Amino acid sequence: MSVKQNDPFTLLYNQLWLADEQKLAQLNPQANLHDWHTILQSSTPAAAVNILLENNSTSKAARKVTPVPPAVVATPTKVVSSAVCTNWSDLVTQASNCRNCNLAASRKHVVIERGNRTAPWMFIGEAPGANEDIQGLPFVGAAGELLDKMIHAMQLNTERDVYICNVVKCRPPSNRNPDISEIEACKNYLLNQIRLVKPRMIVTLGRFAIQTILNTQEAVGKLRGQIHRYNDINVVATFHPSYLLRNPAAKKDAWRDLQLAMKAFTQ
Ligand code: URA
Repeated sequence: MSVKQNDPFTLLYNQLWLADEQKLAQLNPQANLHDWHTILQSSTPAAAVNILLENNSTSKAARKVTPVPPAVVATPTKVVSSAVCTNWSDLVTQASNCRNCNLAASRKHVVIERGNRTAPWMFIGEAPGANEDIQGLPFVGAAGELLDKMIHAMQLNTERDVYICNVVKCRPPSNRNPDISEIEACKNYLLNQIRLVKPRMIVTLGRFAIQTILNTQEAVGKLRGQIHRYNDINVVATFHPSYLLRNPAAKKDAWRDLQLAMKAFTQ
């Protein structure tokens, strides 16, 4: 589909991520012409989005909210990744050869980044999954597909406007959560990435990213809905796309977070 930035249909198309994707798949244009007709004939893209959201919230499955897992337990921190990298080449060389934690033994690739190193927006996830480990790039699986849709919905370009990375650069086996020692071993790579990119806005995805950056154990639910600061950079916390895939009803809250970030960015 050719994308004209302000074309109402494109704006609407960019909001389709808000719908429960399973329900959306059922909106087969052949079988459910009426559904599509109603959505596309809405007076404004915003009204159309409301129809999608209603579609979302009427789903019982979508309404079921999985409780946010407990926060990471605090332990004394010992930073073992290198303190300051002043250029990208040092950072990439050090990270690519890193053996600071046990994840080095099972990884296929060290997953460092994708997007633009001089972008004004930075999105930070948790740790690579199986697809990311194979391809060596962050957010290239199902969660990445949703993240790209969220970024497009903000009218941002995934190659030009954003830099995407994770707190932990190597895949935890069986997609388990990274543990505190792995986060600490990797943390300086992330802090160096922030230093080098110098974004104007950071969006954290899930609890590990926001807790690491703000050095807090507070739950994501408590940290959402406000602008935080990391050094001089604005930070907005939202849900991880994997959580949104499991809980589509939370997408409207995530969209509120993204709108908050967009508003603060333009002020
Ligand atoms: N989840 C993440 O947090 N990061 C990825 O790169 C992929 C899935």
